[in-house]
Amino acid sequence: MFKETYIKLTGVYLTIIMMISIFFSANIYVLSIQELDRGLRSIGPTITIQDDYSLPNSLRTQIEKQRVASYQHAKARVINRLLLINLVILVGGGLLSYYLARKTLQPIEEAHEAQSRFTADASHELRTPLAAMRTEIEVALMDPKLSLAKAKTLLQSNLEELAKLTDLSEGLLRLAQMENHELEKQELTMNTIAENAIGRVLAQAEKKNILIDSKVGAQKIVGDESSLTEAVVILLDNAIKYSPEKTQVQVTSKKTREGVEIAIKDHGIGIKATELPHIFDRFYRADTARSKQQIHGYGIGLAIAKNIVDLHEGKLDVTSKPGKGSTFAITLPAK
Ligand code: ADP
Repeated sequence: MFKETYIKLTGVYLTIIMMISIFFSANIYVLSIQELDRGLRSIGPTITIQDDYSLPNSLRTQIEKQRVASYQHAKARVINRLLLINLVILVGGGLLSYYLARKTLQPIEEAHEAQSRFTADASHELRTPLAAMRTEIEVALMDPKLSLAKAKTLLQSNLEELAKLTDLSEGLLRLAQMENHELEKQELTMNTIAENAIGRVLAQAEKKNILIDSKVGAQKIVGDESSLTEAVVILLDNAIKYSPEKTQVQVTSKKTREGVEIAIKDHGIGIKATELPHIFDRFYRADTARSKQQIHGYGIGLAIAKNIVDLHEGKLDVTSKPGKGSTFAITLPAK
């Protein structure tokens, strides 16, 4: 699809270049011919004077012939030179137009590719739990002696899958909406965001006996309260998810040179250095999270958090040591 558009756009650019080139060539041609005519006319009288006194008829005809010949020759040279220049412009302009067409379309092509990748990844993530549910139901239906207890277990398992699918669809929707999300920026304090966010993950932390130790100050920032809370909830949720039971998660804040930083530090499984550059990509999950620990997730939380921080012109950093823990820090421009 893009190949065709490249060619079309190259054609449009080249047509513009050639129209300009032909316009100038035509003008140069007309001017050159006028100059030639004027030049020949100016040497005309000399021949006539010479002719009057001394030149025989045959010589006069010869000079006249030569004059016409050199006029034709000069005209041909002008035409040839202009044709050559236009040919060079056609070839050079063609290459330049193709280059410009690629440059113009590159961001659109990249966005299109990202969109296709996103759709493919999202479909893949949706298909896996759906296939699992379908198999479970089919197997149960084929069992003629299906007991009520077994049916209830099946329904329970299906319900869990459905809850995960709901999470996924909500995350996908959030990511899609993020593109044209209007922020409602207002003056906020860091501790308001931290308190809101901690409130939302407290039950989850208690289930794992994880203590959330918060030392967040009242540093002022400007931002969208619900989005920023959401970003901190994502980081806290991960800190709890990827930490063993009975550990601590520390939430702190401080003023830095770039603004105000809120950091979430856990003592969990950590992330390998090779995986760190990818964890903010959509659908990326580190090996440890995916296979070994069987921790539920779809790899879109950090992509959403990063998006929110970017929309606030802030930055989201991570430092981590496998087996020791991770620290995620959001820095927002200070008020
Ligand atoms: P999810 O948690 O749903 O897999 P995220 O986008 O939130 O998706 O995180 C991407 C990946 O980054 C996770 O799969 C996990 O491997 C890694 N990760 C994120 N936060 C932590 C953390 N606090 N400790 C260890 N690994 C983490």
